[in-house]
Amino acid sequence: MERKQGMRSASEKAASFNKHFKERTNRQHALSFAACVHCGMCNESCHYYLATGDPSMTPAAKVDKIRRIYKAQNDWLGKLVPGWVGAREMKTDADLEALKDVVFGSCSGCRRCTVNCPFGVDTAILIGLARSCLVDEKVAPEGILSVMKDQWEWGNQMAIPKEEYLETLAWVEEELQAELDDASAKIPIDKEGADFVYVVNPREIKYSPMSLQAAAKIFHVAGLNWTMGSEGWDNTNFGLFSGKADLGGHMGNLAYNHAKKLGVKRMVVSECGHGLRSTKWEAPNWGKANPLPFEIVSMLEVMVDLINTGKIILDPNKNPHPVTYHDPCNLSRSAGITEEPRFCLKRACKDFREMTPNRADSFCCTGGGGGMSMAEYAKRRVSVGSVKAEQIKATGAAIVATACHNCVDGLTDVIKHYELKYDFGNGKPQFLKVPNICELVGDAIVVPKDLPKGKPVTRERFKGKKILVIDDSPDIVAYLKTLLEDNHYQIITAHDGAAGLAKAKSERPSLITLDITMPGKSGIQVFQELRSIPELEGTPVFIITGQIDFRQLMYQKKVQAPEGFMSKPIDEDVLLMTVERLLHYTKHKSAN
Ligand code: SF4
Ligand code: SF4
Ligand code: SF4
Repeated sequence: MERKQGMRSASEKAASFNKHFKERTNRQHALSFAACVHCGMCNESCHYYLATGDPSMTPAAKVDKIRRIYKAQNDWLGKLVPGWVGAREMKTDADLEALKDVVFGSCSGCRRCTVNCPFGVDTAILIGLARSCLVDEKVAPEGILSVMKDQWEWGNQMAIPKEEYLETLAWVEEELQAELDDASAKIPIDKEGADFVYVVNPREIKYSPMSLQAAAKIFHVAGLNWTMGSEGWDNTNFGLFSGKADLGGHMGNLAYNHAKKLGVKRMVVSECGHGLRSTKWEAPNWGKANPLPFEIVSMLEVMVDLINTGKIILDPNKNPHPVTYHDPCNLSRSAGITEEPRFCLKRACKDFREMTPNRADSFCCTGGGGGMSMAEYAKRRVSVGSVKAEQIKATGAAIVATACHNCVDGLTDVIKHYELKYDFGNGKPQFLKVPNICELVGDAIVVPKDLPKGKPVTRERFKGKKILVIDDSPDIVAYLKTLLEDNHYQIITAHDGAAGLAKAKSERPSLITLDITMPGKSGIQVFQELRSIPELEGTPVFIITGQIDFRQLMYQKKVQAPEGFMSKPIDEDVLLMTVERLLHYTKHKSAN
């Protein structure tokens, strides 16, 4: 009788790994395995090596841990005298764990080493080969496995139910109408006859809808005929990070099939580095979907076209602070998109400054290769972010724009860890901001006076709703209480987890804000207990924390992920917007 994978012994797992490795090694892998002459020219390309000086962090040393398997299986000397040539297959559980640490924890797949290798060794595809075989044995970070499962089961990487997705689109539409004071500004869903469908990163739906609102504003002002899909809307693809082509094809086909049903001429991919790479270049092959009856373009290309044709007019004075640009590796090295973001930023911002090195030579933000979903490597990830931090600091910029949602998170962690601040004019330096390009373009748009307008809009707000603030810092509690009360909410407070749980049960708030690091019961424990209280079902939890490894709540999802998150220090505008969004989503679920 076949036994479950989790019950297999280590040697069975290693044997299975070796078998898959042999089956999956193709000509491209073989060429890269064979081409490396250990010249060391790529060493200084890798931020892991540069930041640590550790010889085991050079690209060649990392690939050697994989190459030895290849040699043992394919090289005649490797078969004859394996010890002489360092050939060795995986033998034990410990071997697999050690390899996991290398391929998931020590390489972001950024491919900077590849562009600096005179022999074209593609480290990232070799890392991907080892990842795919480890994933099959479930020897992989829990966050990666969880996200893969969610993409298979929910069709999106954050397990967002359709109802929540549609509700968020409705909320963003209302925000946009309020911003423009124009009821004709819409976010169409499954619109027949639309020219293009816009596909997004689930982070835009779940935690950061500002970029979607900015994109919708741009499309509305430009008068475009667009739609979002009710299905197949996730442009991210963990087939890329896990090396699993079957998942990659599944995710691609969800989007392609819905776009075909809508009959659109184009699919526009929001600002997501790996989203564009996988949707445009990789998934059509993984999913055997070629030829596609529509073209796939980046939001960046659309914005360039709109600016060039005068369909949107920008006033750079609306973005007066110095702005630099971080090139997402998946756009600059793998998709050749380097000039479009600069074109937009130079027209949307008054003071654009280049970061050095840049374009195809840019360093990774640290968040690549699924890094944001691997909480166990978060500390190592930010520690090697010193390279990126120095680059950013040298620009003197207040704003680090980027065209990738992963990069937004990766850069935000780096900026906070290395305390990169700017005085925006009130004498109190704040952490640098990290928007997407469309947000800056949206802010710079001049709305034409003759733009046809619908009815003026009165925005429904959720004043008077009861919010429970749980945080052990008296200063933070006092600050949140004042801010939220000034905005007409009713606030109750708790200074530790036990008191927070008790108040949540007795007071039945409409929303709970929760710190993660507290003495006694940690915020993570409190969060998990809150999720198990039947009376609190449907009550949104908004995590507000200074910890970088809190993302385990988003990605590992032992219980349903939090509805909102924000890292400290608190950005008041984002906080108030998130509170309104969460109350909007739950308006039918809570009476308080
Ligand atoms: S990967 Fe290329 S640059 Fe790096 S050591 Fe090997 S041959 Fe040299
Ligand atoms: S792909 Fe990037 S992170 Fe990985 S070894 Fe090469 S330079 Fe380093
Ligand atoms: S997160 Fe951004 S910078 Fe980092 S690998 Fe992905 S695209 Fe590149």
